[in-house]
Amino acid sequence: MADVTLSQLAKSFGTVDVLHGIDLSIASREFVVFVGPSGCGKSTLLRIIAGLEEISSGDLLIDGVRANDLQPVERGTSMVFQSYALYPHMTVAENMTFGLRMAKMPKADIARRLAEAARILQLEPLLDRRPRQLSGGQRQRVAIGRCIVRDPKVFLFDEPLSNLDTALRVQMRIEIARLHRELNATMVYVTHDQVEAMTLADKIVVLRAGRIEQVGAPLELYHAPANKFVAGFIGSPA
Ligand code: ADP
Ligand code: MG
Repeated sequence: MADVTLSQLAKSFGTVDVLHGIDLSIASREFVVFVGPSGCGKSTLLRIIAGLEEISSGDLLIDGVRANDLQPVERGTSMVFQSYALYPHMTVAENMTFGLRMAKMPKADIARRLAEAARILQLEPLLDRRPRQLSGGQRQRVAIGRCIVRDPKVFLFDEPLSNLDTALRVQMRIEIARLHRELNATMVYVTHDQVEAMTLADKIVVLRAGRIEQVGAPLELYHAPANKFVAGFIGSPA
């Protein structure tokens, strides 16, 4: 677990300003959900925390350390993508351990981490299968498993359930809530789904065109949205 602090963080791609003066504190073990319309900068924010994008100005601290001074692998962050991004030719076990094998972790440690992640995600019977032999929900569990084996301090989820049908989404949402309790990790989660945001979040961050409109606990936003835009996202009748 780790805390993450963004101060006056801004990001431009060339002449296009995508994020403006973002100030946000994420506490250790907190579950923070970003919501906002398509193109408002949610994925860019996650990618910046993960170290996949550079900051244009401002600061990002992870556990008090300036992230600019850390390589992506040193940040203790791990990201789950909407598209799963599994290797089709590898088994579930190979997919889950790929990063650890590349990092030349000792085999016994890899085996122990794989067993633990497979147990947590109930993937034990599927370890020898290939991605094409899995359902959508199972594939997403493998993508999450690939994060868990790295034992990250901060999990980053970019719309992880948006490719799943409704019933599976509900089931995976419950699993992610359980993971958060079991792993005691900090989680930063992007979604379009209001129910996901309301049920998973300790804190919801509403973004609009690269700026924070409001930050608060789900019920705070629900009962006291700062404006109509926030009300529209959180579904309050106000
Ligand atoms: P969201 O995830 O909220 O839909 P993104 O963070 O993906 O939004 O994108 C925010 C804005 O930044 C969009 O206008 C998008 O076109 C732009 N953008 C994202 N990545 C790049 C890039 N690599 N180069 C140029 N523009 C980008
Ligand atoms: Mg996105």
